[in-house]
Amino acid sequence: MTKLVTQLIQGTNGTDDRNTGAVVPPLYFATAFRHPGLGASTGYDYARLETPTRALLEKQLNLLEGGAAALAVSSGMAAIDLVFSTFTQTGDHFIASDDLYGGSFRYFDRRQAQYHVNYDTWDGRDIAQLIQALRPETKLIWLESPSNPTMKLIDLEAVATAVHAVRPNILVAVDNTFLTPIYQRPLTLGADLVVHSATKYLGGHNDILAGAVVARTAALAEALQAQLTTTGQTLDPFSAWLLLRSLKTLKVRMAAHTENAQFLVAHLPHLTAITKLLYAGVGGMISFYLAPEVAVDAFLRGLKVCSFAESLGSVETLVTVPDVQTHHDMPEAQRRALGITPQLIRVSVGLEDAEDLLADLTQAIAGAQPKED
Ligand SMILES: *Cc1c(COP(=O)(O)O)cnc(C)c1O
Repeated sequence: MTKLVTQLIQGTNGTDDRNTGAVVPPLYFATAFRHPGLGASTGYDYARLETPTRALLEKQLNLLEGGAAALAVSSGMAAIDLVFSTFTQTGDHFIASDDLYGGSFRYFDRRQAQYHVNYDTWDGRDIAQLIQALRPETKLIWLESPSNPTMKLIDLEAVATAVHAVRPNILVAVDNTFLTPIYQRPLTLGADLVVHSATKYLGGHNDILAGAVVARTAALAEALQAQLTTTGQTLDPFSAWLLLRSLKTLKVRMAAHTENAQFLVAHLPHLTAITKLLYAGVGGMISFYLAPEVAVDAFLRGLKVCSFAESLGSVETLVTVPDVQTHHDMPEAQRRALGITPQLIRVSVGLEDAEDLLADLTQAIAGAQPKED
């Protein structure tokens, strides 16, 4: 078999069953598919179950993560919901790493309030402590690494090995949105499920809302598919087609995101107005603390190349203030304990010229500092 990048670029070609010779796959909008006869099917029956375009995307997503099967859904939150609605029920318990996408916490709190699926958090470091926190009714471990927004790293392989050694049936699920399978493939490290907000790096252009779940085993994938067919939060054909296109450049985009982020990590700390910078070493996500005297609102208003906007993973650089945006639903005490302060800035480093990005951040910070007398 050819290598991954070749598969991503060539793997869906030649799939047009009308033999037009088109070098990219067609986009099928059909929601209904003719049956050849009673009890017979082309493999496609009705769009909620599967569509030809979504099927191609799912093949590529699965290839990327190295699983048994992938499911493409309508958003990252739909992917998270698919996992929890498939594998947990009232009375169950799960454990989540403590520094997560804010929307995941909002979802967990609702799940707890509405269905009594209870959860505890874990700091992502002490695995013995995690094992101790397991209960008979624990069904799932939910991890995000590097964490959001403070970039803590979790040893996914050590967690999966330790959990499965004591309780083989507990599912280890990883939100792999930040690093993508280009830098981290949780299923190959022993995780059971991988979730993506494909709205972020997989899509990469701030124009697709999508999500994905990839399962390590066929049995897990079948359970997810049965739930998805029932609830219907599938990905529409056009988004699936766009996402297929995005995946072809995932590897070069990730390399370029890393290069730009590393450039900023090398140069931003020279600014005295930045007190601390956080970076996982690869990928395009960095966070930094502005000194107390820097006015955050003035900094955001002063940006000219970067946009103050709430997302990540795209070719456009976006700047976020987690304390008031992505993580605002988290109780203040918890935010402070995690290091999410009003001066914490998260930058999703895009693919603009790195020197332009540095110059923009530098001038916006300078403009937000008190004037010297
Ligand atoms: C954005 C995001 C989500 C939610 O995805 P949507 O596509 O916005 O629904 C989940 N996890 C992480 C890490 C995210 O960044």
